[in-house]
Amino acid sequence: MSWETVIGLEVHVQINTKTKAFCGCSTEFGADPNSQTCPVCLGMPGQLPVLNMEAARKSVLTGLAINGTINLESKFDRKNYFYPDLPKGYQITQFPVPIVELGHLDIPVGDGEKRIGITRIHMEEDAGKSMHEGLDGVSHIDLNRSGVPLMEIVSEPDMRNADEAIAYLKQLHQLILFLGVSGANMEKGQFRCDANVSVHQPGTPLGTRSELKNMNSFRFIKQAIDYEVNRQIELIEDGGEVAQETRLYDSVKGETRPMRSKEEAHDYRYFPEPDLPPLRISQQEVEAIKAGMPELPGQLRARFESEFGLSSYDADVLTQTRELAGWYESLVAAHPADPKRCANWLANELLGRLKEMETDVADSPVSAHKLAGLLDRIADNTISGKSAKDVLDAMMASGDDADAIIEAKGLKQVSDSGAIDEMILKVMADNPQQLEQFRAGKDKLMGFFVGQVMKASRGQANPAMVNQRLKELLKA
Ligand code: ADP
Ligand code: MG
Ligand code: ZN
Repeated sequence: MSWETVIGLEVHVQINTKTKAFCGCSTEFGADPNSQTCPVCLGMPGQLPVLNMEAARKSVLTGLAINGTINLESKFDRKNYFYPDLPKGYQITQFPVPIVELGHLDIPVGDGEKRIGITRIHMEEDAGKSMHEGLDGVSHIDLNRSGVPLMEIVSEPDMRNADEAIAYLKQLHQLILFLGVSGANMEKGQFRCDANVSVHQPGTPLGTRSELKNMNSFRFIKQAIDYEVNRQIELIEDGGEVAQETRLYDSVKGETRPMRSKEEAHDYRYFPEPDLPPLRISQQEVEAIKAGMPELPGQLRARFESEFGLSSYDADVLTQTRELAGWYESLVAAHPADPKRCANWLANELLGRLKEMETDVADSPVSAHKLAGLLDRIADNTISGKSAKDVLDAMMASGDDADAIIEAKGLKQVSDSGAIDEMILKVMADNPQQLEQFRAGKDKLMGFFVGQVMKASRGQANPAMVNQRLKELLKA
């Protein structure tokens, strides 16, 4: 039987406001437990929430970036459930009328693109954090996260395999970072994904889905989806039925297991939040937010292709983050003669070395200005591209600039035609037999002569000049 996988994703993004969604407490990550709390986010009775409009504006910005419809009036609701890290006994969220509806994201699939529908983006508040580990059977609760603003971005069930799901998540993650609306650090829980997964026979109604939670990296999300798809197919082929349930991914065992089934599932008894007025945004405000939209990844890629003549592959690599793209632009500004050379040296040489050092481009020991200094020496033929790689190694290690290293290592390329002619004539004199054969028509020996001259110069002769002078002198 041929099975089709269907995936829809719910992504929770912590919005990077200074203060929480409904009170003035700091959202700073990593503070002492419970040091950033107040009666509102501790859920004390009688406390009134007041919306942080910055969180709403950042949600609108995100909605515009996914071509969504902005609801100028949206509403808050209470989602009721009991959990120790939810002191109010309900979460403020948006249910029937979210701030954004009906957008989409185009993701790369094979050589083309695929459009993934986004059903809605709604605002809500984060819960606190329960801590169980290493506490001798006691649980502790940290409410610093309680009330941190979230956007929940809900996709349509448009993805057909784990790779599409990961492509969607990476695209969304990059977009969020470019928009500057969240740190989106997955390890810090600032970008979290629940995956809804089902299988069915193409042409039949969608199958029953399970919802996978507890995956904090792209790798784990892919593993969890692949595991779950196989589990569902085997289950159905063995005559069983998929239960609609929430399953936790165990990254140590590499499997998903049931957390709660729909029968035990909460009836959240959503009802309108009486303590908050409707969230109103004027059309002018939406326009102002739109006017402040930063350059998005797709636009940046297109600009790098047209402005700097980069291949779409290079443009893609260099626009992975805004920091990297900015670094590339500084490099081109300092070495404007050859943007393509800049791209090659940044993408292939510098990034490769940084990766080995597990260092980000922001912390590169070689600055854009210094790398440009090295590229200048290649451009003016002081050194060959080959020895430039050794110079870059030395620059990475010492932080010195290219000229100092070229000088100290005596790497200066010989581009003096007199000196090159001298070497060529010596090589010709030392190899009369080969010279005779060459002159008799054995063209292949050109490579031999180039090699001999390069060797005589200890690799420092300018290869282009050696080739050119050899052609002339060997003929005579
Ligand atoms: P809930 O609020 O119970 O999680 P929603 O209707 O909001 O339910 O759906 C949540 C997610 O599940 C959405 O991302 C949606 O695309 C996805 N989804 C819905 N039906 C299926 C299905 N049959 N298979 C896979 N994903 C699905
Ligand atoms: Mg859900
Ligand atoms: Zn507070």
